[in-house]
Amino acid sequence: MISSCYCKSPYFNFSPVLFTIFLLAAILLPARPAQAVVWSTLFTAQDVRDHLSTEQGRREALAFCRKMGVSKVYIESFRDGYQAEEATLKAARDFFLQAGLKVSGCVTTVGVSKTSSGGRMWVCYTNRPTQERLEAIFRFTAALFDEIMIDDFFCTDCQCSECVAAKGSLSWDQFREKQMLQISRERIMGPAHAVNPNVKVIIKFPQWYDRFQERGYVPDKEAAIFDRIWVGTELRDPASNKWGNKQQYEGYFIYRWLTDVGGSKTGGGWFDPFGTTPTLYLDQPLTTILAGAPEAFLFHYGALTSADYRAQAEALAPKRVQYEKLATFVSGWGGIATYKPVSSDPGDEGYILDEIGMLAIPEAPTAHFPEGARAAILTTQALGDAELVPKLLRLLAAGGTAFISQPLAHRLNGDPQLPTPAPLDLEKGQYLKTMEVGGGKLVVFSDALPHLTHVDGQNRVEQLTPELRTALEDFRRKVSDFTVTSLDAPPRVAVYPLGGRVAVVNYTELPVAIHLTGLAGMAHKLKQLYALDGATLAPDGAILRLPPHAALVVE
Ligand SMILES: [Zn+2]
Repeated sequence: MISSCYCKSPYFNFSPVLFTIFLLAAILLPARPAQAVVWSTLFTAQDVRDHLSTEQGRREALAFCRKMGVSKVYIESFRDGYQAEEATLKAARDFFLQAGLKVSGCVTTVGVSKTSSGGRMWVCYTNRPTQERLEAIFRFTAALFDEIMIDDFFCTDCQCSECVAAKGSLSWDQFREKQMLQISRERIMGPAHAVNPNVKVIIKFPQWYDRFQERGYVPDKEAAIFDRIWVGTELRDPASNKWGNKQQYEGYFIYRWLTDVGGSKTGGGWFDPFGTTPTLYLDQPLTTILAGAPEAFLFHYGALTSADYRAQAEALAPKRVQYEKLATFVSGWGGIATYKPVSSDPGDEGYILDEIGMLAIPEAPTAHFPEGARAAILTTQALGDAELVPKLLRLLAAGGTAFISQPLAHRLNGDPQLPTPAPLDLEKGQYLKTMEVGGGKLVVFSDALPHLTHVDGQNRVEQLTPELRTALEDFRRKVSDFTVTSLDAPPRVAVYPLGGRVAVVNYTELPVAIHLTGLAGMAHKLKQLYALDGATLAPDGAILRLPPHAALVVE
């Protein structure tokens, strides 16, 4: 039995009585029905041209779908300045429908008339011909499909003279927010529904969630405008500087965070083979399914059948049944409430939240301040909430614990609203500091701890000094008051509390043997429910052994 400290209801208070009822309910209630995973894929506009214009090509594409378990396809009408032929789109749509697959459309807003001054990935939405062309593309697509996905290039960094004039006195962030919402309503949703009143339009968000506000992605307001949202759960080789040394936990963080934003509108996760090896590619279905995505979207047919990336598809095909089984254990996501307001700037802490998750410290990502939670993780991103300090004081007054990153502590230092007995800043060489404030606890942690998960370009991680090892263990010990963690896991092992169960994934390149702690006193002996890639629970019911990239679910 695993406890999770975070409940979204503002009225839910973890009194001992309620906590006991919660534990009993989790034991006695039947498990959630098995979740099914839908596998889907995309035929880009170029794939439509190159692979779906002949009967032979369509049959080969269907064979790929059968092999990959794909039961839904997205057939794209526009990408990179190219619009697919209407006759080919119709023939492909009808072919897959006849074969029993679900079929939707897709649009990628790259190469629509005027390019952004920032480069060819994005376009200038101030430009009138661009707006008109965009509208025409959505009218064309809505006439063919009842659902349209928008790939994650629907943003801009244009600073051309037209944009400068249109911006007026607004900041670029404000202007882009206003502009993208207006374009969404007036050039996409309005025209698409005028052509096809039944059409549902999905906005897919990129994985770079800490920079949305710079380029006009506004997930809460866009989730209100669009019919559904989709989540980029793409992962890359963490050693790749080119891809930004991404942490695998990012796919989990963004999916859970956007689910908090989009609620029931949240659909599947989307990933691709770029920047991966076959082994790293498989971290994506694993992480996407652990995050709870009901659909795993495999971008895209042309890449996954190419010489460059065929190996990734070949690696997934024989294993998909194991991921489908994993999905049946996934529900009841727990962890420590981790607060990132929508449109919040990360300061110097971009994607720090992904790193914290890679320390075996489970996060429950939220875009709303976790009122009533017993504990919260707060970083510079939380300053996006102008009411942060009063809210933090309420959390502390209720006896709560706030885990505060070093840069945030520095920013809060000396805030007259938050009187502390000593400066919040860490001293030189100090990695962790706990302070009693306002009836609760502030735990300040050093940057050096999350950065232990960083993989450099030579595939190396920082060695744990005795001081860092002790600090990491202390950090986790404090976390274990609120959720499950591991005191002895090396950095780059992630722990996912799932109701009464817990999944563990070893994202390191070496085998690990670890213990779990923070089981709310209920763990007499763990039981193995599910194992992937040779992971095992030792007969003592306490030691979890995981080869690299393996996963284990226990209860
Ligand atoms: Zn412009």
